[in-house]
Amino acid sequence: MLKPQSNMKDRETGTGSYHFVRREACPACHGSRSRQVYECSYTRAPIREYLANFYGGRIDFSYLDGAVFSLKKCEFCGLIYQEEIPGAFLMQKLYDEWIDPETDRRKCGSRHIEYYACIAQEIMKIVAHYGPDSSGLRVLDVGMGWGEWCRMAGAFGCQAFGVELSEARIAHALQNNIDVIDWKDLRKHKFHFINTEQVFEHLACPLESLTALASALEDNGMIKIGVPNGGNMPARLRKENWNAPFGSRDSLNAVAPLEHINCFTANSIARMGALAGLQPFSFPLLHEYSCTFIGPVRTSLKALLRPVYHRFHPISHYLTLRK
Ligand SMILES: [Zn+2]
Repeated sequence: MLKPQSNMKDRETGTGSYHFVRREACPACHGSRSRQVYECSYTRAPIREYLANFYGGRIDFSYLDGAVFSLKKCEFCGLIYQEEIPGAFLMQKLYDEWIDPETDRRKCGSRHIEYYACIAQEIMKIVAHYGPDSSGLRVLDVGMGWGEWCRMAGAFGCQAFGVELSEARIAHALQNNIDVIDWKDLRKHKFHFINTEQVFEHLACPLESLTALASALEDNGMIKIGVPNGGNMPARLRKENWNAPFGSRDSLNAVAPLEHINCFTANSIARMGALAGLQPFSFPLLHEYSCTFIGPVRTSLKALLRPVYHRFHPISHYLTLRK
């Protein structure tokens, strides 16, 4: 998980017990025209109950006094963003204390095998795009968490680097021989591919962050932005079901108070990208399919037949031994 970057301008007043900063314009396109789509004090129902439940009682509401959970929708790009967001002090408290790293790590340890299959397929797609030799391929995972993406990229022969601000996650990455770089040193590097998965919804200044990442791309480099699905959010907000389960039709996870401070649409990502000097890119469909585990017909047939071959072919030389 990646916290807002240290290079962001901190407008936190620091006076009294107010630990928030106000965003005066759209953080994705800097558009100044927006309309309010939701408003509720952080310390009143239903937001208070949502936070108490979500953070398992670890949250201290005295730090939220005087702040309002206010959602604005940009009239230029369609981004829905939280107007008042935690300042640097509260961000640290949120990501280092209220979100327990050990709980998060245990959650990672119980991921379904499909999660790793998806990462593997994504990296196969990147490697195949740049050519058969992956040894010179430099990739970066921003907000690398527990390093699964970097380790998978390394397994495919890429030079994998990670950016992360959580001390516990950095220590884990170093134990696993992952190259960790500091955000401030981005300009010293050039990458073919930058992965950002569930990162941009957390950033106080996403346009500035994307611009910094774009400057660290090779000429033919690309960056992936994966964010929560914020489709139909105004309608979901009208239903105001803060108890809707994650992934359900009414889920409000994409605007989760304090954490998911930017709720993107495809248009808001494209506009933000254009301002950062980036153009939309799609891998050809055939390329996508050829890099799945389905693959071309010949490969698929071989994959289907391989287990049978291993079991029954008289000269099979693939054996598993167990104690
Ligand atoms: Zn905007």
